[in-house]
Amino acid sequence: MKNELENLVALQDLDLMIKELKEVEQLGFEVKSEGSETLKKARKEMIAKIHKPLLGNYERLRKRYKRAIVPIKDDKCLGCFMKLPTYLLTHMKRDEQVITCEGCGRILYWLN
Ligand SMILES: [Zn+2]
Repeated sequence: MKNELENLVALQDLDLMIKELKEVEQLGFEVKSEGSETLKKARKEMIAKIHKPLLGNYERLRKRYKRAIVPIKDDKCLGCFMKLPTYLLTHMKRDEQVITCEGCGRILYWLN
């Protein structure tokens, strides 16, 4: 499960980079097409490594937030800064489950 979250964080990075590239293009700067092709290819490869339900959840959240997956710091979700209940954190640590924030619904991961 840990790897799955790492893959999801990597996917989000790629998505943000693709978005940035589009924004640069919209500003009128020329972007090498091979650049965006490489990013899209990397995204495709990353998607293949993530389970469908988790990916679906991520895609839904991405429509709402710029970052669908956010780290936890001091037991707080860094998306909305809500303090996460202990049982949820225990559940995540013990069972290595993917958990979502009760406040904003974002997917959570530990900051290393
Ligand atoms: Zn939150």
